[in-house]
Amino acid sequence: MQISTSAVRPAKTAFQFFDLGAQFETIRGEVLQAVGAVLDSQQFILGQQVDLLEQELAAFLGVPFAIGCASGTDALYLALLAQGVGPGDEVITTPFTFVATAGSIARTGATPVFVDIRPDTFNINSDLIQEAVTERTRAILPVHLFGLAAELRPILQIAEKHSMAVIEDAAQAIGAVYYGEKVGSIGTFGCFSFFPSKNLGCAGDGGMVTARHPGNADRLRLLRVHGSRAKYHYELLGTNSRLDTLQAAILRVKLRHLDNWTKARQERAAIYRQIFEDKHLSDAVTLPEAPSHSSHVFNQFVIRSTSRDSLRQFLQEQGVPTAIYYPEPLHLQPAFSYLGYRAGSMPESEAACEETLALPIYPELPVESQERVVDAIAEFFHSKLHHSRRK
Ligand SMILES: *Cc1c(COP(=O)(O)O)cnc(C)c1O
Repeated sequence: MQISTSAVRPAKTAFQFFDLGAQFETIRGEVLQAVGAVLDSQQFILGQQVDLLEQELAAFLGVPFAIGCASGTDALYLALLAQGVGPGDEVITTPFTFVATAGSIARTGATPVFVDIRPDTFNINSDLIQEAVTERTRAILPVHLFGLAAELRPILQIAEKHSMAVIEDAAQAIGAVYYGEKVGSIGTFGCFSFFPSKNLGCAGDGGMVTARHPGNADRLRLLRVHGSRAKYHYELLGTNSRLDTLQAAILRVKLRHLDNWTKARQERAAIYRQIFEDKHLSDAVTLPEAPSHSSHVFNQFVIRSTSRDSLRQFLQEQGVPTAIYYPEPLHLQPAFSYLGYRAGSMPESEAACEETLALPIYPELPVESQERVVDAIAEFFHSKLHHSRRK
């Protein structure tokens, strides 16, 4: 039998890192009605619900076209295909992201080219992009990580100079604003995920690609149905990647609540900041950057500490759930070893993987839980301080 410190000091009951149940309680009636209507229609592939969701999302984002697809991963893949990216091409992206970002590039046959991040925003460092451009670079694929917009202005300038596309990975950032415009409406394409834990999540997998040019929108619509406009006639090679009618019906219900949920996330982020300040922890941990030109939508509230692992262990013993996004950068993953990157080649991304810790954040998160999180962090740093003084 193992004796742990939690046997000495009993752990308080744990709460959840993320709680979809609390949200479902508030929309149960609306969702069940929407699902019932689709089941009554027995129409499950594309159709009116998908058309309407595409129109509503395009209006919400302020972009001419939105095309539903099967996942956020496919949204990236379809955008790259629509841009004509394939073998021999290079696409510039960040190694500090979910695997789908670079995986989708590789899936087209193109080569992901990694550029390091900024330590404060965790987003791709636009100052380092130019030197990564070659005559093979076809696109830049910035990620709006954790809900904060990447530096799109300089990125768009570089892209324009070299006639490259900008494909925004907005999977974590629906509703985030950059200089007055919603992310995912600014580049050539914008890619969204409706995975349940995203700010707008469905009841399974789903995704959406936005486009600003009718030609691109048309290609996306073809690519998601095997390149077919007329039945059994194929204009180009595509795939099967549609958004389910059921998911679209659920997403239409949830989209009506998204602005309120975003506000609630932002309020919780502000509450965290306040409690951290009240407890004089501003020097012990680094809180998320919030530039004035952008609105952060806090898919994650990620703090930074050089004692991340021992802090996380302590919080776990206290029943405080946390998560690590991401424990390993993509350039050092076995799946990308063929690209030949070495440890030390992306120092900021590698440091971020060692030092970042995501705290619970969701629209219904009770303030008492937030206090418990920060209390436990304060306790960790006080005992650490005490310990180092005694030595
Ligand atoms: C979730 C996510 C994706 C992929 O979305 P799925 O719907 O899970 O396929 C891509 N990029 C980022 C940054 C994500 O967070």
